[in-house]
Amino acid sequence: MKITGYKLYQTDIPLHTPFKTSLREVDAVRDLIVAIETDTGERGFGEAPPTAVITGETLPSITGAIRDFILPSILGMEIEGLDEIERKLHGCMVKNTSAKAAVDMALYDLYAKNLGKPLYQVLGGSKNAFETDITISVNPVAEMVQDSLTAVARGFRILKVKVGREGMRDVSRIAAIREAVGKEITIRVDANQGYEAKEAVRIITAMEDKDLSIELVEQPVPARDFQGMCYITEHVSTPILADESVFSPLDAVRLLENRAADMINIKLMKTGGIHEALKLCAISETYGVPCMIGCMLESKISVSAAAHLAAAKGVITMADLDGPSLCRTDPYPGGPLFEGSMIRMPSEAGIGIKDIVEGDCISVLASS
Ligand code: MG
Repeated sequence: MKITGYKLYQTDIPLHTPFKTSLREVDAVRDLIVAIETDTGERGFGEAPPTAVITGETLPSITGAIRDFILPSILGMEIEGLDEIERKLHGCMVKNTSAKAAVDMALYDLYAKNLGKPLYQVLGGSKNAFETDITISVNPVAEMVQDSLTAVARGFRILKVKVGREGMRDVSRIAAIREAVGKEITIRVDANQGYEAKEAVRIITAMEDKDLSIELVEQPVPARDFQGMCYITEHVSTPILADESVFSPLDAVRLLENRAADMINIKLMKTGGIHEALKLCAISETYGVPCMIGCMLESKISVSAAAHLAAAKGVITMADLDGPSLCRTDPYPGGPLFEGSMIRMPSEAGIGIKDIVEGDCISVLASS
């Protein structure tokens, strides 16, 4: 199966409610979709969100990286030689991890389709369903309490609550949510780099003293503040999860070896796709810690690729794959089923997405 061309699309999928973190506010998923074409007529699909505040990438930069660097370097290659193609994909340019991720997952999609099996089985997995959390955006406390209750009513048992904009007031924010949802619901807190190290220790310690039973705190300080991450991890008993601090396998080794975090959050858009994400799984296993798989604000294609990885690897014990649940429409037939808190894996070969249907939410950007 030979790579012969590509087509790029842009999505404009409205969200149920605006997505707000300490870094940004967004009201629609405006991502780039890539379809890689082959000589057998089979197409592989991938997706990249322009998350400039985290990866530095924009829609034009992702388009340029794929069209001008990545695809020319892999055109004509046989999909059976996936390792060799991945070498070219990661060797043709540095950074641009979301652009690489979109192409990487399209390649894995084709590789599994060629073998006639769902991707998670090709990756060695047998888990056919698992649970995800759902994000509660940063808003006034009453609104966050209401959003949490709505999520629980929809069947979600794990909430990932965004904080980091108001310092110590986040303690009463989480206390109000805990009071409303009760003790049975798992609460994860994500500060998205919103604190300073000593402030974070005060806040997390106050949450511990109030017995708020927080499962973990994600990325309390800026990605670059390695010493701050070490300081917090040492001074609180709540597990600290690194997100924006970890992109590459080398980042993961450095963080875990130096106890700058207890665990890491793997996102395909940070690693540059599944090929590198598998290395993060191996590193977490080596250090004997579980990991989370997360997503940016993404629609069903790339979140499905992440779901296949989660279903394949036992070391991924926490899933934050709520992107499709936040979208008002689903423009792609096929793939895993996102049924409230449960993600059910498909039996079709590859990632499972059947086709890209052009329409209100999807328009063509470029093709070869
Ligand atoms: Mg995060």
